[in-house]
Amino acid sequence: MYNCDQVMAELANFLDDQVAAEIRRELEIHLAHCRTCQALYDSARKTLTIVTESRSFELPEGISSRILEKIMSKVREARRPRPKPSSHPRKRH
Ligand SMILES: [Zn+2]
Repeated sequence: MYNCDQVMAELANFLDDQVAAEIRRELEIHLAHCRTCQALYDSARKTLTIVTESRSFELPEGISSRILEKIMSKVREARRPRPKPSSHPRKRH
């Protein structure tokens, strides 16, 4: 069984339809049970749809992976436990 990190690592390829049948099955099983990944997959797919539909020309190959990577890095940032807040005092504007 895949865990969330494995699913996220493969999600871009999954959306690009570039995963092996076995991996796809694992992802589908995980997505069916994990609301976190489900939500992520859903928003990533919607983002891709919006991007795709807003352009009349064909998207360069691999573009969805790049968009996904951006989304993923944001998700990872959000999930990452924060370092000691006191070590980086926030500057006031
Ligand atoms: Zn998950």
